[in-house]
Amino acid sequence: MSSSVYLDQLIEALQVQPGIGPRSAARIAYALLDRRRAEGLQLAAVLKDALQHIELCPCCRNYSDGGECAICRNVKRRSSGLLCVVETPADVQAVESAGTYFGRYFVLHGHLSPIDGIGAAELGLDKLAEILASGEITELILATNPTVEGEATASYIAALARKQQVKLSKIASGVPFGGNLESVDEQTLAASLEQRRPFA
Ligand SMILES: [Zn+2]
Repeated sequence: MSSSVYLDQLIEALQVQPGIGPRSAARIAYALLDRRRAEGLQLAAVLKDALQHIELCPCCRNYSDGGECAICRNVKRRSSGLLCVVETPADVQAVESAGTYFGRYFVLHGHLSPIDGIGAAELGLDKLAEILASGEITELILATNPTVEGEATASYIAALARKQQVKLSKIASGVPFGGNLESVDEQTLAASLEQRRPFA
């Protein structure tokens, strides 16, 4: 028998993240109640703000505080003519941490996966086609993950770029097949961006 309905609700709600089961959720709930009530309230406030206010940048689909993100607004990055296509916002963060790329991004939020109903529309590829048609982009860098789905998505996007005669490149090896950008160390990622090669 449960001692508190609120406690049951908290443990249930904490299981929002895959990998956190009932036991881990209960441990977190007890830690918050025993010693960390102030931090828990702070977390609740920050979480609410983040979930209510973070939107997708209309230009690159990375997370922004509403409207165009800081990267898209940056004049130097805009005028670079470079556009790097990645699967997730975490990948943008990984490339930014590598510190050698100063162009713009386009975030797919996934990869083509017909079985899961994820097609061109879900990845925002109509918007990407619009950007490619604008004439602002001189080189499109494919930095999808080296997985079967990531490679298939890259080929699809390559066809869009060819239609607009935009130069295509792909990050060099260094990212292991089946892996993702996010898990690669900064030096390796910086090197694979610098040594990117034309995509045929
Ligand atoms: Zn943006």
